[in-house]
Amino acid sequence: MPTPRSVPWKLVVHGGAGAMKRDSVPLEEDRSARAALHAALDAGAAILAAGGSALDAVEQAARSLEDDPHFNAGRGSVFTFEGKNEMDASIMDGRDRNAGAVSGVSATRNPISLARRVMEQSPHVLLSREGADQYSIDQNLDQAGPEHFAIPERRRQLEELRAHGNEFDAALKYGTIGAVAVDCEGHVAAATSTGGLTGKRWGRIGDTPLIGSGTYADDRAAAVSATGAGEFFIRAAVAHEICARIRMCGETAREAADRVIDDVGSLGGRGGVIVVTPAGEAAFAFNTPGMYRGIASAEGAMVAIYDDE
Ligand code: ASP
Repeated sequence: MPTPRSVPWKLVVHGGAGAMKRDSVPLEEDRSARAALHAALDAGAAILAAGGSALDAVEQAARSLEDDPHFNAGRGSVFTFEGKNEMDASIMDGRDRNAGAVSGVSATRNPISLARRVMEQSPHVLLSREGADQYSIDQNLDQAGPEHFAIPERRRQLEELRAHGNEFDAALKYGTIGAVAVDCEGHVAAATSTGGLTGKRWGRIGDTPLIGSGTYADDRAAAVSATGAGEFFIRAAVAHEICARIRMCGETAREAADRVIDDVGSLGGRGGVIVVTPAGEAAFAFNTPGMYRGIASAEGAMVAIYDDE
């Protein structure tokens, strides 16, 4: 029997990329967002430090960020044009490239856990809208009413967007959340969850629930979670492209992440990614002024927001 690999575990999270600058983020918001990132790292790190799986770690880290109203996922999701919360999420296991995703769900407290059920309990990869909501009930997942997800700041953002003639990413603040991890057996996993873009309509779906765009995990390459202007991330197949470059071109995680974010930028897109490889290389890349992000390993944890940190 081959002896199991023992590699140092690592967990990387993000809470969205955007126009955050040191002088524009109120101190209180800066502090509480950092605390929320630390809480998510703690939730996932506890699992990895105890020898648990990357898959469990990314799910728990993502749930922690979904429950925190700072970020555009779960509680605190942005509003659609009609003033509703319709959430997208996806999760992927690098061991066998099993994947699950949901789009346009409105009543599941933690959409990332619904994505995991789709992956593990259904024969499908992606469920949407009423069908996904029904599957969530059938799976006995925690349900929540609209008042759980809705927060006043998001309603204000919708009003502002309407007042400015409906420009989607005028504020350039994407609050999607994500987590990627490598466990002590060298397996990787990725999770991403979002409310999408403020004012989205016509059933718009972004990159987050699309395997290969917002999320990808492959033990032969890396785990990737993305945030940003989803339409561009879909066109560049960002998460899969990073994994393909690592696997087929021999690039490091940093090189692959930088090149693919440059490519997104050349199309006109803004956003960022987090990456971790089975060997434990971690990378962040973003072409916005900031990205809420954090990293944890056995050596400790650190979080950052602005590009100069
Ligand atoms: N990527 C997400 C979307 O386009 C938005 C975000 O990252 O906040 O739906």
